[in-house]
Amino acid sequence: MNTENKGVLVIYTGGTIGSMPKDPNDTASPQVVVDWNDFLDRTSVLKEGLGYRLGFAKLSVALDSCDIGPEHWTEMAEIIENNYDDYEGFVILHGTDTMVYTASALSFMLANLAKPVVLTGSQRTHLFQARNDGLQNTITSLSIANPKATGIPVIPEVMICFGTDLLRGNRSKKKDANGYIAYESPKYPNLAKIGANIEVNEARILPIPDGAFFVRKNLELNVIDFNVFPGVVHNGVADLLFDSKSFTPKGAVVRAYGAGNIPTDEKFLARLANASQNDPKVTMINVTQCTQGRVELGLYETSNKLLAFGMVSGTDLTPEAAMVKLMVGLADEDLQYDQVGLRNFLQTNQAGEQSTSIYEMPFPTPAANLSSGKPRFRFPADRDLPGTWEPSELEGVQLRLYGAKVTGPAEDEALEIDVYANLSSNEEPSGPESTKFAGRFRKAPTADASIISFDVTAATRRLFRPGQRSSFSLILASEKGDLEWQRAELGLFVKE
Ligand code: ASP
Repeated sequence: MNTENKGVLVIYTGGTIGSMPKDPNDTASPQVVVDWNDFLDRTSVLKEGLGYRLGFAKLSVALDSCDIGPEHWTEMAEIIENNYDDYEGFVILHGTDTMVYTASALSFMLANLAKPVVLTGSQRTHLFQARNDGLQNTITSLSIANPKATGIPVIPEVMICFGTDLLRGNRSKKKDANGYIAYESPKYPNLAKIGANIEVNEARILPIPDGAFFVRKNLELNVIDFNVFPGVVHNGVADLLFDSKSFTPKGAVVRAYGAGNIPTDEKFLARLANASQNDPKVTMINVTQCTQGRVELGLYETSNKLLAFGMVSGTDLTPEAAMVKLMVGLADEDLQYDQVGLRNFLQTNQAGEQSTSIYEMPFPTPAANLSSGKPRFRFPADRDLPGTWEPSELEGVQLRLYGAKVTGPAEDEALEIDVYANLSSNEEPSGPESTKFAGRFRKAPTADASIISFDVTAATRRLFRPGQRSSFSLILASEKGDLEWQRAELGLFVKE
């Protein structure tokens, strides 16, 4: 076993932790960030060390984190890349205002990370204030970044260490502008509780990855954060953002209400639909404005329309994580906007940032319909079932028909459709007792084309595994009526 302790690389970026009053004779004068030499000179714990090796690096200019952006994330990622093998872990001293963005961005940029990267800062600095949280936060972060020295488990993640909390960076939110407990992770448990001891919640930390560490350095800057609010449909802001000659975003985070809903005003929706489908295409990802819970596109009529025009589901991503995931995904030339590309990258878990991954598998069949003259239709897959999952991890599986219209056997009478899984084309369906039976569904007549889904979770759990070929068959159970559609896909929701 290699017992050499390589120590920690401390990366200084500025922030309150590195700030002093502009006028040294007036402690009430506005604070400004000091340069690295000044910082080190006044930080005895870094100068004298903690009994193991410390290395130091810095951003080319120390900044208040309000001025930190994608170019600085790349700088930080490159520092880690260049020093990756030489240290046990990394501590980034950073301002609190945009720490969540930096932590989220680095979590996607540092792919297959096997070492701790800990971001910390302070609400009061130790540089000139005796009562401060900067020193404690720095020392605790060093302990987490050097598991060999402290005996705690290796946490191979980008984290935020602040006050009594150790949080997954891409799950964090800044919740307090002044308090010493400044961050929270509302949708994922804390990675550790920090007190006299550092109690790591081992069940919740990411596993050490199998693949080799690499860095994604490019970021798409042409993105916007679009918050819907009551009245947004009347003020022209959607036209300005999505139909302007001078500004054409490549991506947009759409902060929606509740489970992913936005106003249904036709002009407004059409503006978003055009921007999302026509060139130059804007990739839109939907997140919730709520602190808890997740987006479930298709749950309500209002969000079904978004799914129909290609909105990416952000499930329970924080808006900050969604924004930087979009920046990273859009800048990656290998990802195309199709099933295996950008959409897949955005909707599946990359670094513990979301609780559910969504895999979509389109069926290669053309537009078709089901009627008494043609009561049976089979969707055979032309590719293997995506993802890695155990049947118990499948939260849901939907067979979705896009551009679908239902005509009932009589006005206001629902159409009944049986769905089977894995039925070969010449095999007779053998009824509800058969293991291949996925259910009988009643679908109300529709006025316009929309998305019709069939919940095929139980049959998928029973019959299919990732990597297998699947097929689904629809059989009209009503004597009359009609179901027509444009295209079909399978949507798999997998618990992470
Ligand atoms: N404006 C400061 C920054 O983010 C606030 C802080 O560090 O607490 O750099």
